[in-house]
Amino acid sequence: MIRKIGVLTSGGDAPGMNCAIRAVVRAGLKYGLDVYGIMDGYKGLVEDDMFLMDRHSVSDIVNRGGTILGTARLREFKEEKVRQIAVDNLRKRGIEALVVIGGDGSYMGAKKLTEMGINCVGLPGTIDNDIASTDYTIGFDTCLNTICYCIDHIRDTTSSHQRCAIIEVMGNHCGDLALFSGLAEGVEMIITPDHPIPEEEIIDSLRKLHDAKRKRAIVVVSEKIYPNINEFAKKITVETGFEAKAEVLGRVQRGGTPSAFDRILAARMGAYAVDCLLEGKGGICVGMVDNKIVDDDIYQAVPRPRDKHPSMLRLIDILK
Ligand code: ATP
Repeated sequence: MIRKIGVLTSGGDAPGMNCAIRAVVRAGLKYGLDVYGIMDGYKGLVEDDMFLMDRHSVSDIVNRGGTILGTARLREFKEEKVRQIAVDNLRKRGIEALVVIGGDGSYMGAKKLTEMGINCVGLPGTIDNDIASTDYTIGFDTCLNTICYCIDHIRDTTSSHQRCAIIEVMGNHCGDLALFSGLAEGVEMIITPDHPIPEEEIIDSLRKLHDAKRKRAIVVVSEKIYPNINEFAKKITVETGFEAKAEVLGRVQRGGTPSAFDRILAARMGAYAVDCLLEGKGGICVGMVDNKIVDDDIYQAVPRPRDKHPSMLRLIDILK
């Protein structure tokens, strides 16, 4: 049976990561394991920056966004010789297994470490909801609520000034944040990688709304669709009659107090990950599918196409 495990957060930070760390530490201690916190993701593994955690190390963190362990992106971790340094640092302390909280890039690092003899279990920590092996990632729900809060505020001024707001939200190449927030806000138009709308059609629809004396319009757009959203807003102003303003929500979306949903999701997944490591499993990622916590092989899970939510996409047209 294993005696020592580590936990790290990697890639972009996400609200709820701290709850996942807490669950791993508390579950690990419950089963008599030593649990090491590794600072700044894979960077801490390579630089030997890790410390033994106790139950107080994770007190009072459930309500904190970000990650108490820090996170980083370390490109060099793709090189086997760099990963070997990490493995040597772990072996020196007798750490036999890891919980890696991050996105699909972090999962690949976890899989490769498993192949080098350190069993790793991945937890989906990212606001983007872009991981196929789970219905929801840790941080998505909080981020979604933050976006809705921002749109509520923007709506007030957009209505008062009779403008058109073009609101760009995060999601990397996944449209879930735009789709879910757009539906939650009942906006006029939602543009995502799975629901693209040709530029002429957008302009035509907005012009019709303006001509029909609609007081305001809100358009939610996934990031990485328009290279210059301000230029796009200018074009809408010139061609539709609406005064259009681009609003790039930016990193305000990433931080903040995790929602209860994310906290519970993280707690369930963190405890499950420790169970997996105790069973000797590695190279897997944890997900929640139909409200059940499950695991899947990382190499199978990462390339699998994500659910494109056809029934929700249908709602865009039904409810507009
Ligand atoms: P997010 O979804 O928030 O971007 P992520 O985990 O996908 O999170 P990445 O920057 O893609 O973020 O990956 C995080 C880290 O994982 C990288 O900086 C690198 O250290 C490691 N990593 C990524 N891909 C690989 C790979 N193919 N092999 C080994 N390590 C990798």
